[in-house]
Amino acid sequence: MDADPAVEELKTAAYKVPTDAPEGDGTFAWDSTTLVLVQASAGGVTGLGWTYGPAACSALVGEVLSPAVQGLPALDVGRAAQAMAQATRNTPRPGMAAYAISAADCALWDLKARLLHLPLHRLLGAVRDEVAVYGSGGFTTYNEAQLAGQLGGWVHGQGIPRAKMKIGESFGTEEGRDVERMRQARDIIGPNAALFVDANGAYTAKQAIRIMAKVRELDISWFEEPVSSDNLAGLREVRERVDADVAAGEYGTDLAYYRRMCVADALDCVQADVSRCGGISEWLRIAALAAACNLEISGHCAPHMTVHAAAATPNFRHLEWFHDHVRIENLFFEGCLDPHGGALRPSTEPGNGLAVRTGAMEEYRVA
Ligand SMILES: [Mg+2]
Repeated sequence: MDADPAVEELKTAAYKVPTDAPEGDGTFAWDSTTLVLVQASAGGVTGLGWTYGPAACSALVGEVLSPAVQGLPALDVGRAAQAMAQATRNTPRPGMAAYAISAADCALWDLKARLLHLPLHRLLGAVRDEVAVYGSGGFTTYNEAQLAGQLGGWVHGQGIPRAKMKIGESFGTEEGRDVERMRQARDIIGPNAALFVDANGAYTAKQAIRIMAKVRELDISWFEEPVSSDNLAGLREVRERVDADVAAGEYGTDLAYYRRMCVADALDCVQADVSRCGGISEWLRIAALAAACNLEISGHCAPHMTVHAAAATPNFRHLEWFHDHVRIENLFFEGCLDPHGGALRPSTEPGNGLAVRTGAMEEYRVA
């Protein structure tokens, strides 16, 4: 085999998977999730990455990103990352193009690890063997039985000692139900598991502070996007007035976004999504930026792609074991991980350790 093969192409496709029940949070509702898959090939080896975004991401990979990386040395992922950033200057790179870049960048990292016969987290330089996860779902559309089945399943069934639910229903207009559901959740998970909440930017700052005061006895330890993640002054105001750690960052798609967020004193923990932020290449830079601001970083979604970067990030806190993505990744990939006990152990197989279940995917293909 060629010891220094060139990237041949980025193959891409999009798959739309219906949810298993209606889902919603404080500011959005959905009944399906679209996964855009990228497969990067070189020297007879294929790496895979993906993002959760519109099928248009797939077109962007084919039209802009694949030509930009073709012929580059597959071992030089940094060169490909730079080529993709330059090729999307006019797209522009922040926003949806970064989702497409993320899928491609992760596929290229996986390809390199497979070419070198190394597990991806070892190629990146692992600092830990286990990556802590928290169960994530608890949608505002769920009734009490659905909430109990899901949160109870994580905490009592799988021994995951952290669970996150959605609050801020209907843009923060259902405060009474939010409070009732948080009380239900604490009853379901018991006194020892950590209870996290995510308002997806649905509240005003004062409203978020008032609501946390009402549920103080529930010992909520993570309050995600109490206000819009673009409202850094509001995040800081909430952070100063509630006991829970305030977190945000899931929509960030470039390093400058995270600089603004990290230096604003607005957060207790920064979130980044390896399938949105620019892939593993950008994740590592964001994590370094956070570390310089004395912040830990938490992984948002796409758990089977994030786990490798997380294992190689010193200031990493935990990874989101998100209901929709866990379901889709288990459906589409062989080699998925077991979160029993509250942590994932990254695969010791070459690359990300996953294989595409082609037969299971075709019925969902949309592009
Ligand atoms: Mg969130």
